[in-house]
Amino acid sequence: MTSEFEIIEYYFKKKIKHTVLGIGDDGAIVNIQKNHQLVISSDMLIENIHFLKNTNPFHLGWKSLAVNLSDIAAMGGKPKWATLSISLPKISHLWLRKFSGGFFKCANQFGIDLIGGDTSRGPLSISVTIMGEIKNNHTLLRSNAKINDDIWITGQLGLASMGLASLQRKLKLPPLLKTKCINTLEVPTPRVSLGSHLSRYTNSCIDISDGLIQDLNHILKASKVGAVLMLNDIPCEKFIHTSKQYQFVLNGGDDYELLFTAPKKNRSYIKKIAKKTNTAANIIGIITHKKDLKILNTQGKSVPFHIMGFDHFA
Ligand code: ADP
Ligand code: MG
Repeated sequence: MTSEFEIIEYYFKKKIKHTVLGIGDDGAIVNIQKNHQLVISSDMLIENIHFLKNTNPFHLGWKSLAVNLSDIAAMGGKPKWATLSISLPKISHLWLRKFSGGFFKCANQFGIDLIGGDTSRGPLSISVTIMGEIKNNHTLLRSNAKINDDIWITGQLGLASMGLASLQRKLKLPPLLKTKCINTLEVPTPRVSLGSHLSRYTNSCIDISDGLIQDLNHILKASKVGAVLMLNDIPCEKFIHTSKQYQFVLNGGDDYELLFTAPKKNRSYIKKIAKKTNTAANIIGIITHKKDLKILNTQGKSVPFHIMGFDHFA
């Protein structure tokens, strides 16, 4: 099996569940439900830029879809269809088996049909486009945060960037924590279920992929508001507090948690949805009318910070 077409047939053409026409023609066809809109997003993963050489291909397959699912979750959508464009330096069946295994593990878990893509020879690079549905007027935007909104965050921040730093031998972690961090880096959990239930109670939302401060700033700019964060309320490992390495929490990338803002009166609803969808969600601050970002310590003192979130061209 050495041709492009055999590879597509064998590794990528799997059973589809909610698609009119999938892989095999010049295009794919899907139906979308009445009173729904299509939400679309793309993300690339390029070797040595988004992942280290020799990353476990199963994890890479999972992550290439998971990071896209995270974007649909942040829009409040229900992801349904994906395309996969991949360039490979050579055909390795071991690599392809693991990669597609990880990709479809994620696809099956979240109910995604792979409906097309492209396959080419070239430096290892993976590009996924994800499509999903959102009920009309249920979209979660960056631009709708309101003054006095609570700022919520799912899960825990900093694990993925600690994992990367430890793989790069820039950070020494206890063995158990190291495993947890690398696993979070390579096999992130997109908050799809929570995201698709938030729209009734939430004003704005973004997924944290380039660091908390940088991504929160996108909401602040788009909504023309400011924010105060309580440093000690940000859920993270004890290691962060004892080592005072808050840069992983504030500026670390690859978290794929959701940050959303919501009126105080919706706290109990949001807690209920979080519980129902088995997602940790905590309040870490408040939206203010003063158009800047402050981070306070337990004494209520402002702590200095830098915006060092990830920017490919910075
Ligand atoms: P075209 O000649 O129009 O570029 P291709 O021969 O590249 O079409 O692809 C044949 C079919 O396989 C198309 O349906 C395409 O969407 C699909 N396909 C190609 N590569 C992939 C891939 N990596 N994953 C999923 N589907 C793919
Ligand atoms: Mg093609």
